[in-house]
Amino acid sequence: MKTVIVGAGLSGLTLAERILSSGADDEIIILERESAPGGLARSFHVNGYDFDIGPHRFHTFNKEVDKYLRDILDGHYVKISRKSSVHMAGKYRNWPLTIGSVMGLPFSVLWKSLLDLFNKPNIPVIKNFADFIRSRYGDNLYNYFFSGYTRKFTGIDAEQLHIDWAQAGVNRAVIDKRVKADSLLSLVKGLLLPKPVETKFYYPDSGGIQTFCDMQCSKIKDLGGTILYDTSVETLVLENGSVSGVKLINGDVIPADRVFWSAPITLLYPETGLTFINTLIVNIALKTEVHQNDYQWCYFGHEDLIFSRLTIPRNFRQDCVPEGKDSLIVEITCNSEAEMWKNPETIKQRLINDLKSVGAIRGDDIEFIDWRRIAETYPVYTLDYKEKLSSITVPDGLFLTGRCGAFWYNNMDHSIDQALSIVKGAEFRQDFWNER
Ligand SMILES: Cc1cc2nc3c(=O)[nH]c(=O)nc-3n(C[C@H](O)[C@H](O)[C@H](O)COP(=O)(O)OP(=O)(O)OC[C@H]3O[C@@H](n4cnc5c(N)ncnc54)[C@H](O)[C@@H]3O)c2cc1C
Repeated sequence: MKTVIVGAGLSGLTLAERILSSGADDEIIILERESAPGGLARSFHVNGYDFDIGPHRFHTFNKEVDKYLRDILDGHYVKISRKSSVHMAGKYRNWPLTIGSVMGLPFSVLWKSLLDLFNKPNIPVIKNFADFIRSRYGDNLYNYFFSGYTRKFTGIDAEQLHIDWAQAGVNRAVIDKRVKADSLLSLVKGLLLPKPVETKFYYPDSGGIQTFCDMQCSKIKDLGGTILYDTSVETLVLENGSVSGVKLINGDVIPADRVFWSAPITLLYPETGLTFINTLIVNIALKTEVHQNDYQWCYFGHEDLIFSRLTIPRNFRQDCVPEGKDSLIVEITCNSEAEMWKNPETIKQRLINDLKSVGAIRGDDIEFIDWRRIAETYPVYTLDYKEKLSSITVPDGLFLTGRCGAFWYNNMDHSIDQALSIVKGAEFRQDFWNER
């Protein structure tokens, strides 16, 4: 069996490693567009600083995935207590909210949210993300945080998004299913807990998150697999309606009996009109330790601020920055038509001003800025995305997988879980918010 895997992200690498480890006599070749493995879980090592694509923490309740993670990392990991935050009313506040962190919110916001507890909006049928959030958190929190954050993050209004966006997005922000933050009532109950749930996540003990993928690659090569970098696949080659290979952008054809495709689904099916959001990742190296905050990442809902999240790598592992220094990872989402996507540095001054306004930098402390354009970071769940997806007919021999290949707003552990299930021939459900 000749198997071609398109994409050396977590899905592709886990599939390759598992198939080869199972002792199957497959010839496996992974084709990767970039010059390094990892996909969205790749890292950039620049002048002694390690930067990931935003915060990347491994967290799972799935025992099989947990075991797989630890087997690959082979003891080379640290376990870190999650500390995330949200910037509201000019201050950094714990996320999920704690009683201490809501104190100091404007009185009108607190009072109106309290009223919302007893006075739920009347929404007979939940038709979109806006309805879902309003029904769960009330109109006040919706207007105060979710509505603007969503418009800034996705570029479209909350009314235009499918409720699946909420299921994935809200869980994604909380990451630990024991933490109940799925409604206003849960948030209030959470405030009253004597001690918030402590969530721990894995992180490699050297380099960035990509170290995990590098370790998978070493295993794959030891087991006889081939990984070709800087190799962009253009499309599939079909014979009598079945997959017979892939065609590269240089015109070469690589024959295959089956293809696992983790590259964006839109490359194969542009006519569906499915779309992704891109992310500008701005890595900022700082000359001195400036951050008093101990959070690892923080969400910024305010629409006037250009970024939606900041990450402090030093709070993942101290040696992600050289001694005595600091750094920031800034995430700015946009679509491919945006001017800032085409010419990222045009936003430099605005970005610096915005970062100063939230106390994240001083301005004179920047050592260097490293700009990265990361395409296709989030599938956009518009109201009709399910119909668009179901219009696709997948030929024999093609397996769509992973975040972009399956158009699936997932996390790393879900990509691994999916790959493990595929190799076992098991049915895989994509509604990962109902954790197995
Ligand atoms: C900002 C951000 C923060 C995140 N934080 C977390 C987190 O904290 N915890 C967590 O668990 N998950 C997190 N995730 C999600 C996680 O990164 C993904 O779920 C996971 O990395 C997806 O892996 P994948 O292999 O499915 O897809 P991808 O990583 O997208 O892999 C697809 C691969 O295909 C390659 N490719 C694309 N086109 C072609 C082509 N034409 N030819 C050849 N190769 C091609 C790509 O370069 C890529 O390597 C985050 C994601 C983002 C964007």
